[in-house]
Parts: sequence; C-alpha cells; structure tokens
Amino acid sequence: MALVPPHGGKGLVCCLLQGAELQAELEKAKTLKKIEISPRAKGDLIMMGIGGFSPLNGFMTRADWKSVCENFTLADGTFWPVPVTLDTDEEVKVGEEIALFDPKKGVYMATMKVTEVYEMTEADKKWECEKVYKGQGPDSADDKFWSVALEDHPGVQMVMAQKKYNIAGPVKVLSEGDYRERFPGCYMTPAESRAIFEERGWSRVAALQLRNPMHRSHEYLAKIAVEVCDGVFIHSLVGNLKPGDIPAEVRIKCIDTLIDKYFVKANVVQGGYPLDMRYAGPREGLLHATFRQNYGVSDMLIGRDHAGVGDFYGMFEAQEIFDRIPKNLGPGKDLITQPMKIDWTFYCYKCDGMASLRTCPHTKEDRVILSGTKLRKALSEGAPVPDHFGRDEVLAILREYYEGLTEKVEIKMQRAADGSIMK
Ligand SMILES: [Zn+2]
Repeated sequence: MALVPPHGGKGLVCCLLQGAELQAELEKAKTLKKIEISPRAKGDLIMMGIGGFSPLNGFMTRADWKSVCENFTLADGTFWPVPVTLDTDEEVKVGEEIALFDPKKGVYMATMKVTEVYEMTEADKKWECEKVYKGQGPDSADDKFWSVALEDHPGVQMVMAQKKYNIAGPVKVLSEGDYRERFPGCYMTPAESRAIFEERGWSRVAALQLRNPMHRSHEYLAKIAVEVCDGVFIHSLVGNLKPGDIPAEVRIKCIDTLIDKYFVKANVVQGGYPLDMRYAGPREGLLHATFRQNYGVSDMLIGRDHAGVGDFYGMFEAQEIFDRIPKNLGPGKDLITQPMKIDWTFYCYKCDGMASLRTCPHTKEDRVILSGTKLRKALSEGAPVPDHFGRDEVLAILREYYEGLTEKVEIKMQRAADGSIMK
C-alpha cells in the first residue's frame, strides 16, 4: 500500500528554486519591478514553493478564480476550494516579469511572469465573499451577513481590503521564509512528511489540524485516528493568527509536551505548515484536506466547528461540505483525501472518560465542555480551569505564557464555547 498521491495528478509541483538557479533568479529579481505582497500571499507562495499547493504553480486567472468560487474547481476542472489570488494597486502589464517582495521582512519571495491582469470591483469582492465565506450559521442569515461580516469576519475583511487588480501567472519561489529556523524539526515540506510516513511503513495517515494548543478533545480526536489508521500527523498552522490568539511557538511547545507524556511516539508525527489562517470556514476545511493530500495524508479529521469563525458557520458545516463538492472530475482531478468526521467530544463524569455525542447518553450537566476559546478566556483572566479540560503539563505552559503577557487580551465568546447550544 502506498501513500495517497499528490493532488492534481502531476506529482508534487514545487516552484522553489535551489542552488545556482536560485542565486541567479535572486539577482534578476533586484532588477525587476517590485510588487509588495500581503502575508496571505507570502504563505501561498511558500506553499507553491514546497509543493503544498500542488498542482498550483502560480496565482489564479480570472477564469480560475470564478470557477473556484462557483464550482469548487479550477478552470481545467481540477478540484480546488478557495481562491489563491494576488492583488496589487500597481500598474502591471501582461508579459512583464515582476518581483514579489515581502515588505515586513525585506525579502524577495518570488518572481512572476504576468499572464493576466484583471480588475476586482467591489461587486466582484462581495460576490467572492458570498460564494466562499458565507455559511449557514446564525451570523450568515441573509439580512444579517453583511452587517456583521464587515465588522466580525476576518476572512471577509481580508477580501474586501484587497487592492484594485488581481495579477495571475506562474511563479518562481525564492524563499521558504524563516519557518525552518523558527520551528526546527517541526516545519516540514510535503516531500519530507511523505519520507517520514514511508519510512514508518504508513499508508493510511490521518491529520489533525491545529491552530490552538492541544487540549483533551484534540487529544481524543488524534487517538481515535491512531486506532483506525497507521498513524496520525498532528499538523499545526505556524503562520499568523488574529491578535489575541496564542503564538505558534507556545502551541508547538504544548503539543511537544503532550506527545511526550500521552502518546505512543511511533504512531504520531508532529509538523507545522507555513500558512496564515484564511478564516474561510467550511471551505478552509476543504483546503486543509487538499493540501494534506500533498503532505501524504489520506484522512482529514474534521470535528465540531472545524475552522470556525465566530458564529458564522453551523457546528458541522465543515463536515457536510465534503458531501457537496463535485466528484468524478477525471483522472487526478478529484480530492482523494477523505474527511474523518467526529462528533462533538468532551469529558463526561458519568462515562468517566472522554466521549462524544455519539457515545455518551448523559446530559450536558455531566460533561466538561472543552473549547479553546473558553480555555483562553480562563487563562487570560487567571481564573481556574475545570478538571479534565486540558492536561496539567499543557496548562502549566499556557499559564506561564499568559503571566508573561503585559497586555490583557479581550476574548469574544462564541455561542458554542459554553455548551449552551448542546442539547
Ligand atoms: Zn456520558
């Protein structure tokens, strides 16, 4: 049995240059028109560089963008769940070669051959938001969406703040950013994770997506996967989150500790991937599965409120969307990685252990409702954390982090976080 193939049927498509070729292109980049890029585009470029976004080799054309929003496929019919576009205010011409520059770090990230320049009107941006970001949650009701999304939905805010033009074309990536130095042994490319899985003789691999520290419900999801797969890939976002969220360094330390104390190490691999949160809700869940396929993952764990944003999405919308995506698209074009759907999980005093709504017959009063939001709120206020919420070793790391913060963070509670919507 082999690992799942990379998405798109073209193997791993890696746009990162190496060695002499890289040096020559870096010199050339300095002579080209310099376009400053957003943190989101930087993450996208690194993913194209290392094969994480296979088969993409550049930013999307208008036809690709439209088809992705409307049909979940690129213009050639290959499954793809979210737009990967590059915006600018600069005058750029078709046929021109440009340099893509990260103004924050002062680094040339890529060169790009421009094949298309298209205007994104306010109407286009709104259309993208409605297609990609609007869900069925309480904040997505027709008469409510736009009044709350502009204020409260970071994904919608990002799209609406995009500049006037999108530019498309293939890229040559010049940098992986500083992730390898910042997260040694954790940040890895799809080729590297595949090599580890193959060395262990794994073929069926589950991934747990994390943007919070790992607490009991995440641990439980990962362990369910270990029971039915060859192993689990605990894969954290190491790019940027929104203010108030816990930095990647602290989250990785928590996961290291948890794996060390509570997992059979032969059955788990920890990794980090270089993207920022897009806050695209259920569609982002699909993106998680798509790029995990490139990393060699066959089963994507999708629990309650996966990639949720406030109350914009239904609790299990990120599971249901897998049933609605187009299938039988042709050789290499389908998403092969499947969702492993898990119900709402928690510790139950009557069950005397971790359980889910599928296994526990008791009432919500018997359960400790675990949510990252509630945990962050308690820790940031120095309040006690209920028993069985998280492991002591992990909570100690988080307490230390919050005690070191000089500014207290305001955390907005979601309806789901206190269990009030649990029947
Ligand atoms: Zn129970």
